[in-house]
Amino acid sequence: MTGFSTNAVHGFRSGAGDAHGALRPPVYDSVAFEQDSSEALSQVFAGRKPAHAYSRITNPTVEDFENRMRLLSGGLAVIAVSSGMAAISNILLALGSAGTNIVAGGHLFGNTVSLLEKTLKPWGLETRFVSMLEPLAVAAAIDLNTRVVFRETITNPQLEVAAIRKIAAIASEKGVPLLVDNTVSTPYLFRSKDFGASIEVLSSTKYISGGATTVGGVIIDNGNFDWRRSPRLAEWAAQMGPMALCGALRREVYRNIGACLAPHHAYLHSLGLETMSLRIEKSCANALAVARYLARHKRIAAVNYPGLEESPHHGVAAQQFSGRFGGILTFDLQSRDACFALINRLQLIRRASNVNDNKTLVLHPASTIFCEYSRERREQMGVRETMIRLSVGIEDEKDILADLEEGLEKL
Ligand SMILES: *Cc1c(COP(=O)(O)O)cnc(C)c1O
Repeated sequence: MTGFSTNAVHGFRSGAGDAHGALRPPVYDSVAFEQDSSEALSQVFAGRKPAHAYSRITNPTVEDFENRMRLLSGGLAVIAVSSGMAAISNILLALGSAGTNIVAGGHLFGNTVSLLEKTLKPWGLETRFVSMLEPLAVAAAIDLNTRVVFRETITNPQLEVAAIRKIAAIASEKGVPLLVDNTVSTPYLFRSKDFGASIEVLSSTKYISGGATTVGGVIIDNGNFDWRRSPRLAEWAAQMGPMALCGALRREVYRNIGACLAPHHAYLHSLGLETMSLRIEKSCANALAVARYLARHKRIAAVNYPGLEESPHHGVAAQQFSGRFGGILTFDLQSRDACFALINRLQLIRRASNVNDNKTLVLHPASTIFCEYSRERREQMGVRETMIRLSVGIEDEKDILADLEEGLEKL
C-alpha cells in the first residue's frame, strides 16, 4: 500500500484520466451540468444516475478534493464544505434536533463554543460541557437524548490532549457516535478512525490549504457507526445503509444549508494537500524547538506544549500523534501588558488570528478570539489574561528564535 505523502501527491488515479492528459485536474468553475434528455436529468435528481447537476450539491473539482481526503483519512465518505464552522454546524444539525443534547469537551475553539451556546441553544439543542480528561464525567453526561460526543484532538488554545480511544469506547458503549475536530492534527498526525472516532471534522483553512489561501472545511464519516442507532438518521439508514450520514447531508442538510465549497477553493486545498506532510513535519519540529527555548527563558512564567516532557499531556500525545505534537504552543508572561508589549515588538512573527499557516503567527487569545466572554467564563475555558498563543510556521528555526529572543530581551 502506498504511503500518506504518495497518496497526497497522486490522489485517486481513475482509469479514464483527463481528456487532455492534464496532470492536475482542472477547476470546473461551472454552476450547472447538462444532460442529453429530460429522462437522464430526472435520473440524476433521483440519485439513480451518478452525475453532477448543480454545484451547491456536487462539483467535479470539489469531488476530487473529497476523494483525496477520503484516501488520506481512510474514511468511508467525505463532504467538503465552505469552512470549518460549516463542517461543525452541518454535522450537528444532521445529528441533533430540539430536545436532544451534545456532550462536548469544556475546552473548544472559541467560535465553536459560541455556535453551541448562542446559535444552537435557542433552537432547543443543548450542549453539556464536560472535561474530556475525566472519562467517568463523560459517561455520566450521556443520556438517552445524547446524539453525539464532541471533542477536539488537541484543544485550541489550551492544548489539552484527551485519550480519544477511551472516550470512543464510552460513546460506543452508550450507542452514541464520537465526533472529533481534527483541524490541528489532520489525518497526517492522527487517523481518528484507528482510535474509534466515528466522524471527523476539519477546518481545511489551516494545515490543508497550505499558506492560508482560502477558507474551507471537511466532514468525514469513518464508517464505523451504525446509523440506524441515530434517531435523525434512522430513515436514511434504512435506505442507504452505511452511507446514511453523508446521504442525509448531501440530499438534505448540506444541500439545504448551502455552505458549499467553491471549486477554486477546492483546487487550492487539493494543491495544499500535496505538500502538507512536509509542512507539518517542519512546523512541528520548529514548534518543539521554540517550546524548548521558551521553557528555559527566564522571562517566561510557563510554557504549554504537549511535546515538552513536563506537559501533563505528553504521554497521551506521544502515543496518539506518532511522535509529533502539532505546531501550536502557548506561554505565559507576568501580565497582560507584558503580553501586548512582546507581541508589539516582534518583527518576523506576524500578529494575526490563524493557525497552521506557513508563517509563524502570534496573538493574545483573551483579548481577541475570546473577547466576547466574561473574564470568569474565559478562566473556565482555560484562557488566561497572561497567555500568548504562537502558531509556529515553516521558516528557518533560527530566525523564529532570534525574533523571540530580541522581543523578550527588551521586556
Ligand atoms: C479554525 C478552526 C475552526 C473553524 O474553522 P474555519 O475554517 O475558520 O471556519 C474550527 N475548529 C478549530 C480547532 C479551528 O482551529
